[in-house]
Amino acid sequence: NTFEDFKIKKQLKNAIADLGFEKPTPIQQESYSTILGGADFVGIAQTGTGKTIAYLLPILQDLNYSDQPQPRVLIMAPTRELVIQIVEQIEKLTSYLSVRALGVYGGSNNINPQKRAIAEGLDIIVGTPRRLYDLALSNVLRLKSIKKLVIDEVDIMLDFGYKTQLKNIFDHLPEKRQNILFSATMTSYVDELMNDFLVNPVKKTI
Ligand code: AMP
Repeated sequence: NTFEDFKIKKQLKNAIADLGFEKPTPIQQESYSTILGGADFVGIAQTGTGKTIAYLLPILQDLNYSDQPQPRVLIMAPTRELVIQIVEQIEKLTSYLSVRALGVYGGSNNINPQKRAIAEGLDIIVGTPRRLYDLALSNVLRLKSIKKLVIDEVDIMLDFGYKTQLKNIFDHLPEKRQNILFSATMTSYVDELMNDFLVNPVKKTI
């Protein structure tokens, strides 16, 4: 299998070539057409398997470019480090596309520049749950335009006590959306999210 087998736009293909990726990893092969087709998806895959590109590629393939100010893709990750890595991968994959992506997280990071960046307009927002929720509460970040939700490292989210934050964010999202979960291990919390928030999810384990 090669990336040539994927229905994928030229700009993304060129970016993949620049990254030096020769062929899709197993999780990328398993997820591409399912996520692109719009189904809810659960991937059980560890870091190092290429899981980030596995959800980013079909999302970027499907993203239509508009000057709509509000983001259409929300990616949640448990740590600042992971948020930064995801944004870096988005930037690399979109070097031939104009996609506006922003990473937000708490700690010492001042919220005001994040608010200004959101107000300027975004396609994809990546963040840790608490900071995303604060931004949503302050009305700067409107989540009603979200069409796709990714929760990365679901098992770590639970370890870090983000369960309530995730529930609060779900309450701000439109009901009609695509949900994509990734977790290194299958846990009862993944099951709970699948039962409570996903519709007929396709589950793949690597
Ligand atoms: P992840 O599992 O998402 O943390 O990715 C692990 C590493 O694999 C990252 O540095 C990616 O850039 C890299 N990677 C992702 N997909 C591929 C691929 N198809 N071929 C080679 N490397 C890849």
